[in-house]
Amino acid sequence: MTSKNLWDKVRVSGLIRCGRTSPGVLRSHNKLQEKAALPKPRTLNIVILLLAALAILSDLCICEERVLSPRLILNPSRLHPGEFLVVFLEGVEPDDKVSLQTNLPQTSLKAYPYRQGLISLVGVDCRTPPGEYYISARVRGKEPGVWQENLRLILEPKRFTSQYLQVSPKKLEVRSSEKWQQDLPHIREARSRSSDLPLWEERFLAPLKGRKTTDFGAIRYINGKEVGRHSGVDIAAPRGTLVVAANSGIVCLARFLNVTGYTVIVDHGLNLFTSYCHLESLLVKEGQKVVRGQGIGRVGSSGFATGSHLHWGVVIGSTFIDPHLLVKKNPLDMLDGEIK
Ligand SMILES: [Zn+2]
Repeated sequence: MTSKNLWDKVRVSGLIRCGRTSPGVLRSHNKLQEKAALPKPRTLNIVILLLAALAILSDLCICEERVLSPRLILNPSRLHPGEFLVVFLEGVEPDDKVSLQTNLPQTSLKAYPYRQGLISLVGVDCRTPPGEYYISARVRGKEPGVWQENLRLILEPKRFTSQYLQVSPKKLEVRSSEKWQQDLPHIREARSRSSDLPLWEERFLAPLKGRKTTDFGAIRYINGKEVGRHSGVDIAAPRGTLVVAANSGIVCLARFLNVTGYTVIVDHGLNLFTSYCHLESLLVKEGQKVVRGQGIGRVGSSGFATGSHLHWGVVIGSTFIDPHLLVKKNPLDMLDGEIK
């Protein structure tokens, strides 16, 4: 790992670092006042000068001591396309100017205050080429200078499965680019805001028990033509089976869309969303709070679907990740033992 830490340099070059109320300063100040009562003109001048110097110093002593020095943490720092990592910038103070950046393609990092720092969940698109990437943080505080750290991220190769579908021209019309264009504004609007607080608890639940029919990230061919990647997992179940919220959150979309049919999107906070598609019916409304395991809809085949199933997606910002990762671990637990 390459790490560039400039904060020590900043601290050394800082003019004054002291608390507002230093008992030591007050005690020496009182002693000087006693001496000032002595009737010696030369001593008096020195005392006045010293008192003036102390007054100037007390004006300058405005830098509060930082509780923690900044520290950038990535977990994991080695992963595959379609997975996610948690970025935590520890020791950030409310007035600090912070910039978090990455060279992962089409990825902008969104950070939220969490414990004594900032947290950012980062999804890696399943089409990202394997290789070496970085996450960097810059912090400008009250102290002069800038603290900066760059950490390496290794993306290892992964093989995705392929799926071949044969559908009628009439069915294909359901997922035409025109139909997508009609759906997109609703989806973008729903995911344009997220709660500043994590609304989920524990690990995520699989929203439906059933047979997995299509993997996350599968390379899809429709009538022999490659059309893209599968953005979630498909779980087959009889029509009308209850689908539950994978975790607690706020319903930010609950409506019919051309391609995904009756669809629910839940905001879990920190830019993390889950989506439930091709439902037969909806059991929730937009703006409604849901709790982990609560029924939100029933399995169907609305929109572009070849049979009764649930398409379950997990999105960070606008990047889809493998939903099963959240069933295995709570993203917030990934910081356990890493931060103070
Ligand atoms: Zn699907």
